[in-house]
Amino acid sequence: MHTHHSALGVAATLRPVQPVTLVRPHAARRAARFFVEKFPGTSMYAVKANPSPELLRELWAGGITHYDVASIAEVRLVRQTLGDAATLCFMHPVKAEEAIAEAYLDHGVRTFSLDSREELDKIVRATNGATDLTLCVRLRVSSDYSKLSLASKFGVGVDEAPALLLATRQVADALGICFHVGSQAMTPHAYGNALERVRAAIVAAAVTVDVVDVGGGFPSVYPGMEPTDLEHYFDTIHRGFESLPISYSAELWAEPGRALCAEYSSVLVRVEKRRDDVLYINDGAYGSLFDAAHVAWRFPVKLVREKESAARPLNFSFYGPTCDDMDHMAGPFALPADVQAGDYIEVGMLGAYGAAMRTGFNGFTAGDTVTVTDEPMASLYMPAEQPSTVVEIARKL
Ligand SMILES: *Cc1c(COP(=O)(O)O)cnc(C)c1O
Repeated sequence: MHTHHSALGVAATLRPVQPVTLVRPHAARRAARFFVEKFPGTSMYAVKANPSPELLRELWAGGITHYDVASIAEVRLVRQTLGDAATLCFMHPVKAEEAIAEAYLDHGVRTFSLDSREELDKIVRATNGATDLTLCVRLRVSSDYSKLSLASKFGVGVDEAPALLLATRQVADALGICFHVGSQAMTPHAYGNALERVRAAIVAAAVTVDVVDVGGGFPSVYPGMEPTDLEHYFDTIHRGFESLPISYSAELWAEPGRALCAEYSSVLVRVEKRRDDVLYINDGAYGSLFDAAHVAWRFPVKLVREKESAARPLNFSFYGPTCDDMDHMAGPFALPADVQAGDYIEVGMLGAYGAAMRTGFNGFTAGDTVTVTDEPMASLYMPAEQPSTVVEIARKL
C-alpha cells in the first residue's frame, strides 16, 4: 500500500479516476487504545462497521481482543486474520443453525446472543447441548436518542423477557443481557435508560446475571452531530452497571462499531460535472456513500486543490456515478463556490459503514486504497493539548 501525507498528495501524484479510499491506521489505533484504557469493561469491536483485515489488525494492535461477529463469514474472517487468540462473540440474535454449529465446533465461539425461545433451542441443538456457553438475551430498548434506530427488528420485550431469561439460565454456563440503543446515540441517557430496562428485567426474572453488554451506538463526529465526550457515556454506563442487582464478579461489555472506525478512513472523489449547485461525483449511494444517500447522513467535505480556493462557501448536493436517480446525496455539503469538474473532494469520516457498504452496481467499483498520515477531519480522540477540539473542528465542517 502506498503512503502519502494527505489527500492532496494522492490527488497530485495519482490523478485517480476512481474513488480512492484513504486510510489512517494511527486514528484507528488511537480509538482502540481509548476504549481499552477508558471503557470500564471489555470492548468488543462490531466487525460489520468495517471488516477490512488491515483495520482488524490495527484494532488488535491497539488492544482490542474481543470481536462481535454477526455472520459465519465474519467468524471465518476474524479467525483467519487474527488467529486463535481473538475472542469471538456471535451477537446476531437470528442465526442459521449451520452457522452456530460451525462457529462453535470449528472456530471456538462460546458466546451467542438470542431473543427468542426458538433461537435458544437452535443453539442447544447446534452445539449438542454444550455446557460451556455464554448466552446473552437481547432486550428491546428505545432508540429515541439515536440517529439510526435498531429498535424494531430484534430484542425481547419486557413482558416476555423474564421467561426467556429463566429458560436461558437453565442452559447457559454464563448468562448475559445485551441491548443496542441504536447507532450514533447522541446522549449518554440512551444507555442510562436502557440499563433501567435491564434492571427491571433482572428483578422480574430473579436470575443471576453474569454479563451486561451495553452494545454499540457510541457516536462519532459529523457536521451537525457533535456528541459530548465519550467519557461521559462511559461514566453513565459505569454508574448504571454498578447499581444493578448483580454479583460483584459480573462483567461489563460493549460492542462499539462506528466509534472505533469512523476516523479510520475517508474517500477521495472527483467531480465529473457541475450543474448549478449539484456536483456529479464518482462515488455514491452504491459505493461508500450509502448512508449519505439513504439516511441523509452528512459527512464533512473538503476541496482538495494545490492552491486553496478563496471563493465563499456554497451548499452543494451530490449525484453519484450510476444511472439511478436514487444515487443522490442531499447534504448539504459546503464547498468553495468555484468548485468545478476535474476537482477532487475529500469526504471524511467514512471508516464506519462506508467502504463496508460498497457494491459494484453499474460497473462503478472501488479504486485504490492509500495510507495517509495526516489527521482525520474530526476526532473524538485527539490529545487535549492539540488545538483541534471536537467542537472547534465540527464548527468548521
Ligand atoms: C451494528 C451493531 C453494533 C455496532 O453498532 P455501532 O452503532 O456501529 O456502534 C453492535 N452490536 C450489534 C449487535 C450490532 O448489530
